[in-house]
Amino acid sequence: MMKTKGFFPIDRFAQIRTPFYYYDTELLEETLKTVKAEIADHPDFHVHYAVKANFNPEILKIIARAGLGADCVSGGEVEAALQAGFPANSIVFAGVGKSDEEIQLGLDADIFRFNVESLPELEVINELAGASGKIARISLRVNPDIEAHTHANIMTGLAENKFGINHEQLPDMIRKALSMSHIRFNGLHFHIGSQILDMEDFIALCNRIDWILDKLEAMGLPIGDLNVGGGLGIDYEHPNRFPMADFGKYFNIFKTHLCLRPGQQLHFELGRSLVAQCGSLIAKVLYVKQGMYKDFVIIDGSMTELVRPAMYGSFHKIENISAQAREAHGIPYVEHEYDVVGPVCESSDVFVKGFKMQESHRGDLLALRSAGAYGESMASGYNCRHLPRAIFSCDNAGSGK
Ligand SMILES: *Cc1c(COP(=O)(O)O)cnc(C)c1O
Repeated sequence: MMKTKGFFPIDRFAQIRTPFYYYDTELLEETLKTVKAEIADHPDFHVHYAVKANFNPEILKIIARAGLGADCVSGGEVEAALQAGFPANSIVFAGVGKSDEEIQLGLDADIFRFNVESLPELEVINELAGASGKIARISLRVNPDIEAHTHANIMTGLAENKFGINHEQLPDMIRKALSMSHIRFNGLHFHIGSQILDMEDFIALCNRIDWILDKLEAMGLPIGDLNVGGGLGIDYEHPNRFPMADFGKYFNIFKTHLCLRPGQQLHFELGRSLVAQCGSLIAKVLYVKQGMYKDFVIIDGSMTELVRPAMYGSFHKIENISAQAREAHGIPYVEHEYDVVGPVCESSDVFVKGFKMQESHRGDLLALRSAGAYGESMASGYNCRHLPRAIFSCDNAGSGK
C-alpha cells in the first residue's frame, strides 16, 4: 500500500528532550492526496479539516496547502486557520456557544459559513451582521436524533445531546432565518459523533437526511447545501497495518446513499481521520517498577500530553522503539506485561493496563501511536507541566517555528 511504517529516527530522537510529539508529514501528505483523489470525480464535494483535532501551525499549513477548507469551533481556531493560510471563504464555524466577539471575528473575516445551533444564536448573528452592514451566510445544524455507535462522550447526534436543532423545530427555524434581513440561509449541517467505524451509521445519517429533505421540499422550503460533518474513525489497534482510514468506502456511502439535488454542494468536516495516524507521542521510560501483582512502566509522558486514555478510556498502541532498535542489532525480542503509566498525580494517568510489549528498561523510548488527533490539541499544563513540543519527519516543517 505504501512505505513500511513503524520506523522512527531514533538517533535523532536521542537529541530531543522528551516527551514530544513526532509527526510523519509524508503520511499526512499521502492521506491528504488520497482524500483528494477519492473526491476528484465529484466537484460538488468539499472537505474542510476540523481544526480542533490538531491545530499545530505546521500541520495546519500542510493541510491548507493541500487545498482543503477549515472547520472551526472557536474564534481562536478561525484565527489559527486564517494564519495558516486557509482562505476565509473555505472556513466554516460551528459551536453551540459562539460569543459575540467570535461571531464578529467571523463576520469581519467574511468566513464561508456559520453553522448555527439555536434561535437566539441566529438572532445575535443577524443583529451583529446588521450593525456591520453585512449579510451572514448560515447553515442550520440539525440534530438528526440518530445514534452513532461510539463512546457516549463523543456521540453528538442524539436529541438528548446539546448540539443542533431538532428536526421537528427545523421548518420554523428555516422560515425565521429566511425572514431575517442580514442572514442568508445556505443549507443544513449535521455531525453525529466521532471515531465512527460502523459505516451503517453514515448510511443511517444519509437516509435521515434524505427523509428530512423530502419533508422540507414538501413544505415548499429551500434547503441549500449540505454539510455532513466528520466522525470517520481510524484503527488504533493496527496503526502500521492500516495507516489510513478507508476513505474510498466512506465517500462512496455519500455518493450512493445521499440524494443530492441539482447544484447542491456537499461539505465534509474530517478531523481525526486526516491527522491521527501521522502523530506519535514519544516518551522516555523513567522507571520500571515491580509491584505486588504487576509491573509498571513509568514514563515521562502523561495525561497532560495525551489525555484520551484518561478522558475516554481510549487505547493507544505502544511500541518500545529502543527495543526495536536493539532487535535490529540482534538482541532478541522478550515480551513482558506492563501497566504503562505517567507521573501525574491522578489515578487516571494510565495509558494502558496489562499490555504485552517489549521488555523495557530505564531510558528506553516509547512511541504512543495514533496520537496525531486530539493529542497535542488537548494538552494541558496541569501539575505545572510544560506543553509538549512537536518534531516533524520532514526537516522543513517545524523550521518556521
Ligand atoms: C469535532 C467535529 C468534527 C470532526 O470530527 P472528527 O471525528 O475528528 O472527524 C467535525 N464537525 C464538527 C462540528 C465537530 O465538532
